[in-house]
Amino acid sequence: MTSDLSFPAAPDGGAESGAVLDGNAAAGEFAGILASDPTTVTVRCGSCGVAQAFGQLQAYMGGPGTVLRCRECEAMVARVARTPRGTWLDISGSSSWLLLPTPGPA
Ligand SMILES: [Zn+2]
Repeated sequence: MTSDLSFPAAPDGGAESGAVLDGNAAAGEFAGILASDPTTVTVRCGSCGVAQAFGQLQAYMGGPGTVLRCRECEAMVARVARTPRGTWLDISGSSSWLLLPTPGPA
């Protein structure tokens, strides 16, 4: 029953295909999920505790989903995958996300 609710299989090691990019490359994948501009977000790694700008994260794209890794310890901090069932967001590898206030309606 829960098996079909598991996050799509994604490589969590050296099997990711494609070049390592910075977080800015993955901003588009997160833009439709976060209310804030992803590039203004600060993410704290749940593994080593370092806070870093979204754009400083390492982005692994081209696999099943987009994986963001900590620049310091290379732990996975977030991943997003779009499937026919919907968009999966896994931020279990991060301890906090700081989203800047968005301008309200004039
Ligand atoms: Zn880290």
